[in-house]
Amino acid sequence: MTVRRFRYTLTPLSRVSAGRSGAVQNSRPIYHVIPGTVVRGALGTSWWNKIDAAYQPNTSREKQTQAFNELFAKAMRIGPAIPERDGVPGSELRGVSWVRCKYRHSHYGWHDLAAMDIGRTCPIVEPDTGYPCGGSLELGKGWSLPEGNGWIVETTRTALENGAPVKGQLFTRPALSKTIELVGTLTVVGQDENMSPGEQWLLTEKVLSVGGQRSTLGRCRWRADEIKASTPPNGTVIVRLRSDAILVDEFGFATTDLVRAVREAIEKSGGSGTVRPKAWTRHVSVSGWHGVSGLPKPEELAVSAGSTVVVDELDAVAAAALDNGVGIRRVEGFGMIDILPIDEAPKGLDPNAEHPPTPGATTASERAMGESSAIEIQTEHAPPSQVRIAPEPPVPLSPVDQLTKDVGTARAPKMLKGILTQGRQVMRWRDNGFADPIVRTSVVEPTITLPWMRLLSMAEQEAVLDIIGAEPTTLSRHLYDARRCLDALAKEAES
Ligand SMILES: [Zn+2]
Repeated sequence: MTVRRFRYTLTPLSRVSAGRSGAVQNSRPIYHVIPGTVVRGALGTSWWNKIDAAYQPNTSREKQTQAFNELFAKAMRIGPAIPERDGVPGSELRGVSWVRCKYRHSHYGWHDLAAMDIGRTCPIVEPDTGYPCGGSLELGKGWSLPEGNGWIVETTRTALENGAPVKGQLFTRPALSKTIELVGTLTVVGQDENMSPGEQWLLTEKVLSVGGQRSTLGRCRWRADEIKASTPPNGTVIVRLRSDAILVDEFGFATTDLVRAVREAIEKSGGSGTVRPKAWTRHVSVSGWHGVSGLPKPEELAVSAGSTVVVDELDAVAAAALDNGVGIRRVEGFGMIDILPIDEAPKGLDPNAEHPPTPGATTASERAMGESSAIEIQTEHAPPSQVRIAPEPPVPLSPVDQLTKDVGTARAPKMLKGILTQGRQVMRWRDNGFADPIVRTSVVEPTITLPWMRLLSMAEQEAVLDIIGAEPTTLSRHLYDARRCLDALAKEAES
């Protein structure tokens, strides 16, 4: 068995706008990096496309199918495509374990809590007061593009009816700028030393349509070159998801337990490594489009890119196994992993580190004077923690948690199950391309007639409709919360 790694480049011939869901709405969120699953879809379409660059168009259909299954269903894993300009990546993968001072970005940038715990507020000592900043912390959110700088552009077009523009119906769609390149890696697990014809096909230049649109939007030139596969580090490492992962337990049910998934991958490899129990994770709901049948795939709960665990004493065997990813649907690009030496994690908020002076900061002697006067204030009034750091405001409950609490344990399970069913229905309709007003009248509002809704007060019913009718990202969050509340109630009932 040989593992070959390729670097691929997509050069946009037009703007690229790969939407996060299949629905085309007046405006929709787009990916800031193109997931491997979208690139795979574009390659798969091209494989059969006689006009562009089909795979060996003169061989028999059986041979084409066999080679397709070999490459796409077994051997190939495609990593996300990251926007680059002049060789500099635009998107940075910020770990979910990353934080930075929310109000003063001059407070030394991002800090990885997986490498060093610093508490819940910014610990950087202000030179002019001698006290810790105490600012709240902003969390890393996976793949992030810098704001501004023209990475994202808005395109506007009109709706078409029988080929003619419809008056008053303008669609705005954000897209990645045309002045960038999209760069990623892909891995092929080959059966022998020589490249298969399928791999050689990957190496030929071709034009792909990225983002599921048959129009000119999303046309990109594809290029791939073989690169040297690197050996992942071992020892104490940060294990971070490079793409969303779909994890399942031994019964095949979705789980978000990244610690367990990593532990199982290590055990299965025959190697060794100890996973620390703390994980930093975020959850997303992912869906896909089944190109052949034209039907949406059911949405699945996933652990998002950037989610992180720490592993101690990881050996080379286990590292190689983790390098292959975790979870299911890996051939589609889900569950890819980065393994990073813990020493290389950013530590911008290390209170003991020598930090460069903040621009406009006072000189050392002024600082010393500032400190002494600050201490005087402290002795006169109160200890610095009380003076400087406001108590943390109570974390407000999520709408689903609040509603569950209001409704009470007797009625909540039925309601939560109902919310899950109806919410998924809403997602399915949106994925099928139905516009929001139709989804509202056909799915959201009829919820009011369902038997479990009659157990609720008017205000509670309205809260349910707000939850089910929320925009896509919020709805995913709500459904995740509903699942969690339901599990918690079941656990409570057991004990
Ligand atoms: Zn700060």
